[in-house]
Amino acid sequence: MTEQVIHLIDKDGKRTDGRNIDELRDIKITVGMIKNADGSAFIEFGKNKIIVAVYGPREVHPKHMAQPDRCVLRCRYHMSPFSTDTRKNPAPSRREVEISKVIREALEPAIILEDYPRAAIDIFVEVLQADGGSRCAGITAASVALADAGINMRDMVSACAAGKVADRIVLDVNDIEDKEGCADMPVAYLPNLEQVTLLQLDGILTKEEFNECLDTAIKGCKMVYEIQKQALIQKYFGNEITSDVKETAQ
Ligand code: ADP
Repeated sequence: MTEQVIHLIDKDGKRTDGRNIDELRDIKITVGMIKNADGSAFIEFGKNKIIVAVYGPREVHPKHMAQPDRCVLRCRYHMSPFSTDTRKNPAPSRREVEISKVIREALEPAIILEDYPRAAIDIFVEVLQADGGSRCAGITAASVALADAGINMRDMVSACAAGKVADRIVLDVNDIEDKEGCADMPVAYLPNLEQVTLLQLDGILTKEEFNECLDTAIKGCKMVYEIQKQALIQKYFGNEITSDVKETAQ
């Protein structure tokens, strides 16, 4: 444990990447750069680099999968072979199948599926570079890409993890903290409806730590939401918002 304290949080309270415990990594979202898609977003979330493309609403193939009263939402999360330190097998792993499912379930409550009966919406999340928290970054970008595609939504979905590192609850766990830390809790949140749509926990926390971790992650989701809004405003209105969005959210 002592080794971990020295390694992951130094005596000045700084983390391996120089952040404070309640600080997000730098986030940049670019909207609409894939012209063949109906909506798209590229997110840089720390060192994560992820492209999301949304297609639809469109005809469902195979046809028997169509639902008479609502749209079918499909999601594929995939990590490129060059996205990690060691070459990742390009075939879908169990982890990618699971993450595809949790991303779909995190986004579904935000989409007004009944508006598109017999149709499908396909979401492709392609990780070009992974740095821990790629599912949260993927959900965040997917929500922006859905908005870019003009899909009717109840709210945005903003996602961010919190975790326990060297006995401290920290915001936005990075790759080394994810691997060497004590706990990682990815959360997706509807910021206006104040609903959690994804809550996972890898590790062990006390009840008090659990509550603190969840509160910290939700606070991070609200900061992420401001950045999502800024990205969409910049694409559609070309407005330069120069104020520090992280501070606005806090
Ligand atoms: P998340 O990226 O959502 O935090 P995980 O906790 O499963 O998901 O993964 C944490 C990190 O571990 C990833 O962001 C990536 O950097 C790394 N990782 C995941 N799968 C692999 C893999 N097959 N090979 C190498 N690194 C991986």
